[in-house]
Amino acid sequence: MSSQSYDVIVIGGGAVGENVADRTAQGGLTTVVVESDLVGGECSYWACMPSKVLLRSGAALAAARRVPGAAEAVTGTVDVRAALKQRDSIASNWKDDGQAKWLDSAGIALVRGHARLTGIKEVTVTQADGAVTVLTATHAVVISTGSAALLPDIPGLTDIDPWTSRDATSAQQIPPRLAVIGGGVVAAEMAAAYASLGSAVTVIARSPLLGGQEPFAGELVTAALIENGVTVLVGPSTTEAHREGGAVTLTLDDGSTVTAEKVLVAIGRTPRTQDLGLNTVGLNGGDWLAVDDTLLVQGDSPTLAGDWLYATGDVNHRALLTHQGKYQARAAGDAIVTRAAGTPVDNAPWGAHVATADHAAVPQVTFTDPEVASVGLTAASAVKAGYRIRILDYDLANLGGSAVLAVGYVGKARAIVDLDREVLLGVTFVGQDVAELLHSATVAIVGEVPINRLWHAVPSYPTLSEVWLRLLEAYGRPGFTENDGRKN
Ligand SMILES: Cc1cc2nc3c(=O)[nH]c(=O)nc-3n(C[C@H](O)[C@H](O)[C@H](O)COP(=O)(O)OP(=O)(O)OC[C@H]3O[C@@H](n4cnc5c(N)ncnc54)[C@H](O)[C@@H]3O)c2cc1C
Repeated sequence: MSSQSYDVIVIGGGAVGENVADRTAQGGLTTVVVESDLVGGECSYWACMPSKVLLRSGAALAAARRVPGAAEAVTGTVDVRAALKQRDSIASNWKDDGQAKWLDSAGIALVRGHARLTGIKEVTVTQADGAVTVLTATHAVVISTGSAALLPDIPGLTDIDPWTSRDATSAQQIPPRLAVIGGGVVAAEMAAAYASLGSAVTVIARSPLLGGQEPFAGELVTAALIENGVTVLVGPSTTEAHREGGAVTLTLDDGSTVTAEKVLVAIGRTPRTQDLGLNTVGLNGGDWLAVDDTLLVQGDSPTLAGDWLYATGDVNHRALLTHQGKYQARAAGDAIVTRAAGTPVDNAPWGAHVATADHAAVPQVTFTDPEVASVGLTAASAVKAGYRIRILDYDLANLGGSAVLAVGYVGKARAIVDLDREVLLGVTFVGQDVAELLHSATVAIVGEVPINRLWHAVPSYPTLSEVWLRLLEAYGRPGFTENDGRKN
């Protein structure tokens, strides 16, 4: 057994853990990352990056087919071998040398192995060969262990060896038939990807797809999936799974069955806190870790006193997205450096050391075709939160920009206005190529830009950004009345 001491210990070298470590190292604190698998985590190898590449070739092909001139030049379907090869390359062939090298270049130490808390500011790492290293932290321990796929308790499911998102994003063969259990982002994206790669896909979702988004988002995505040959079953639950030879049959609670070579389970995530020694600091293994806005772990235990234990990324369950976890990482890393210097943190809302946007402006893109790009509140969540709102809707098909992009462009935008402050609370865009529009909405919401001022942000013609002008026109210019000859 060896022992080492650092200012900061980060458990988990995913995108989020790497970012915390970067901030604390840049702040002059000695920092170690402990990683039990690949440095880079889920996003690089089994989530964001490979999933987006699997979707990209089908989307590019579909986009070309909507442009006369280009459409005539597209004569085939997706080249599966080439698409998988590109996916392999983007996933660095599931090797982490590049990311480990980056840690080294950033002056961050790496200890490989499984980390467990063994006391206040103490982490014990067990390496694959059984060697044990005890790490102690002078200032902070950050838990960035992420989340894993949640498997439902369906009789027979474990026996059929179901796919999780890890299998779906790293598969080397495309199954002739794929059943997808779930209706969230991962289910919708993987259904779209595998349909474009040649699988006959059936989605089994208990409720309409993309719940939590504006309802039209799920409706437009469902319609597009169906148009692309996907069977979407909304309502039934899977009650049993069994394999016969190469095929699996799922029995649904409406009495029907679905047969497929592979079954992807995408019903949600579970925190990676099961085997983390949380009991040694008065917390429960298997729980998501509640944090305050500086990402300090919350709990009644006196062991948590002293502002030393942080949780960033998926594991705190605030927003299960890489970019939002990295935003938390920057806030937490800087808070650690500030506290280590004995200076008070700037923890007022929107201050330097808090993740305020987690509550008000979480941007998210679902990379289906059409894409769904949303930030802030939906109409339903704004009403629930007690805001007095106005809903502005616009059909993106009416824009000059969409007419240039595609024949038969299908898309819709919705903005939610807080009538008391005349600022935006939320925006949702659905359509081809709307992902890059999203940041404009995020800036408007985070900046609380008054509608009156937004009128001066002129979108270029002919682009999809002209949706901003149309939404503003739908609202009417504050201060002008009917008597001015304008809509109010
Ligand atoms: C299919 C799919 C697609 C997605 N697409 C997107 C997308 O397009 N955009 C987006 O923003 N988000 C996307 N997400 C979500 C995104 O992947 C996660 O939000 C992100 O990976 C979370 O990062 P993290 O660092 O918190 O956790 P992780 O990336 O899971 O990293 C945690 C790390 O901790 C390590 N670890 C765990 N326990 C221990 C331990 N005890 N000791 C040592 N190491 C440990 C793990 O091995 C892992 O490397 C997607 C998710 C899925 C499943």
